[in-house]
Amino acid sequence: DRALSEGRNWHAHDTADEDATDRDVSLLGELDEAIGKGEIRVVYQPKLDLKKNRIVSVEALVRWHHGTRGFLSPDLFIPLAERGGRIDGLTLYVVERTIADLLQWQRVGRPITGAVNISAKLLGSDSFTQALVKLVRCSGIQPQLLTFEVTESAAMTDPEAAASALHTFRALGVSISMDDYGTGQSTLSYLKRLPLNELKIDRSFVQFAHQNRADGVLVRSTIDLAHELGLKVVAEGVEHEDCLAFLRNSGCDLVQGYLISRPVPAAELSSLLDKGVSQAA
Ligand code: C2E
Ligand code: MG
Ligand code: MG
Ligand code: MG
Repeated sequence: DRALSEGRNWHAHDTADEDATDRDVSLLGELDEAIGKGEIRVVYQPKLDLKKNRIVSVEALVRWHHGTRGFLSPDLFIPLAERGGRIDGLTLYVVERTIADLLQWQRVGRPITGAVNISAKLLGSDSFTQALVKLVRCSGIQPQLLTFEVTESAAMTDPEAAASALHTFRALGVSISMDDYGTGQSTLSYLKRLPLNELKIDRSFVQFAHQNRADGVLVRSTIDLAHELGLKVVAEGVEHEDCLAFLRNSGCDLVQGYLISRPVPAAELSSLLDKGVSQAA
């Protein structure tokens, strides 16, 4: 179902008698219930390994299929959940679903790794860190199959606390990826301080890297910088063949984007893995 996997084009529309604030308050109230009703779903977007030329991992992306409002974009309800104190429960739910799907793919003989987005806000919460560690431990998954994606967001107001949470996850065996790299503020100091395994170059630099000279230089030098630091590099938002060729030539490790595949429900991913993506790549 394309609309389900592509919730990103859908936003809640304000009706005449409901302003954005009213809408946000009512959505927040419905969020817990939405999980119970199965309205919150997880779709997966593949990451293609350019050296192995196959899909080795996926990113979990949350979708809300709202009973009356239709599909809601995570860009709408994630910030809402963060402000309203609901993001920890929502994140634990997404991690739980992702682990279940990873275990299922492992059972059918196609072990892949999976990444979940963790809001910067949560990295300051000891109780969340403990709950997440417990969830991973009790699930029976090999923590090596999991990656947590975090952003260099300004909300990371407490870098010490964030670093300590990330060290806890690393000690457990989970990998850490820096998402939307290049759009944040204290980029270089985070690179030095945080225990990272991977950098994801933000779509805004990647998308036209093959045709815009400045973008190309930034992407290429970021790949080199990451490799010098011993990190893998993912380019996100790859939509064109020419862009893919540019990234291959630049030594990028992994690519993600509509050219490879849109985010899809777990059942469709299995068939993508069966078919392979050689047509696209
Ligand atoms: P992100 O983690 O940077 O995820 C990448 C976003 O880019 C996704 O949007 C994905 O569908 C979209 N995308 C992927 N390939 C392409 C492409 O080739 N072209 C274009 N134009 N877009 C592409 P989505 O799913 O709407 O998610 C938006 C953001 O919401 C995510 O950005 C992430 O920050 C947040 N998010 C999504 N799921 C979760 C979640 O479970 N927890 C948290 N905390 N945040 C989430
Ligand atoms: Mg991400
Ligand atoms: Mg990103
Ligand atoms: Mg993003």
